[in-house]
Amino acid sequence: MDLETLRLRLRAAGAGPTHERRILRLWSNALPMDSGKRRIEDFLPAGLRAELPAIEAELQGLARIASVHPGADGSERLLVALRDGQTVESVLLPREGLCISSQVGCAVGCRFCMTGRGGLERQLGSAEMVAQVATARARRPVKKVVFMGMGEPAHNLDAVLDAIALLGTAGGIGHKNLVFSTVGDPRVFERLPREHVKPALALSLHTTKPELREALLPRAPRMTPQALVEAADAYGRASGYPIQYQWTLLEGVNDGEDEIEGIVRLLSGRYGVLNMIPFNKVDGLDFRRPSWERAAGIARTLHQRGILTKLRQSAAQDVEGGCGQLRARSVIRMSV
Ligand code: SF4
Repeated sequence: MDLETLRLRLRAAGAGPTHERRILRLWSNALPMDSGKRRIEDFLPAGLRAELPAIEAELQGLARIASVHPGADGSERLLVALRDGQTVESVLLPREGLCISSQVGCAVGCRFCMTGRGGLERQLGSAEMVAQVATARARRPVKKVVFMGMGEPAHNLDAVLDAIALLGTAGGIGHKNLVFSTVGDPRVFERLPREHVKPALALSLHTTKPELREALLPRAPRMTPQALVEAADAYGRASGYPIQYQWTLLEGVNDGEDEIEGIVRLLSGRYGVLNMIPFNKVDGLDFRRPSWERAAGIARTLHQRGILTKLRQSAAQDVEGGCGQLRARSVIRMSV
């Protein structure tokens, strides 16, 4: 279900704009429909009251937690079952953050990603994205939502932007705490500046070399790292939210002196921060994780050269590693 279908359904049952806003606010915040000063039964028109239990049941059925996998860092990796039996991953992050998925699978095919190996299975509807937030909020508070789970948000752009628009209004999430994460796509750089709710932007860069990027991200749009950074930088300055440049560190692939020089050339003076995340081991992939000392040395050098760099572990990395592995394991488990 997408949010527009839900809105049409509410309107057909007699909802006015105020009823609609209130129902969407309660749902996306995981609050019971009868909460608030005015009881919903007194507030809604009779037709809508009669339909509400069915609508509520349908919304609750959009996403349910199939399994919970706590990490040592306070995060929780959630395997979320959708109505058609498909599954996606969400991750509850420390400090009230949530990472959600925008697609089942992904077509970009990044060589170091488990999700990319299986290709795209289907798009998520905008309501299924909001449902991941509502489901997570039923477990603990969520004040930041990052679209960094399974899928490439640029490949499901209208639905992702609809979900962001709702989360940034009725959903009560601050706009700078909504993070659109992409490998970079001209459509994203065109659309985001025109949106009413403008999210922060994370750009998966991974290398400064155009040919290596094409090899690592085979079906990402053919924009050079230079063009990507220029487009992202313009959006960062226009939105007021620094760009989060993402870099998965792969030993012997993108951790050399040449890349350090390339980063200094590319990111000096840019409005953003570089997040370096050492690769998580994935069974069946040949990439290696550099030692923490090596990664820390790179981050230190970049800092000394004037690039704001943060070295991070990916959340819940002790639990089935990176994006897509939990689902892959569950699919394997289900299929044996
Ligand atoms: Fe898709 Fe992200 Fe995986 Fe690349 S890293 S294949 S964009 S899910």
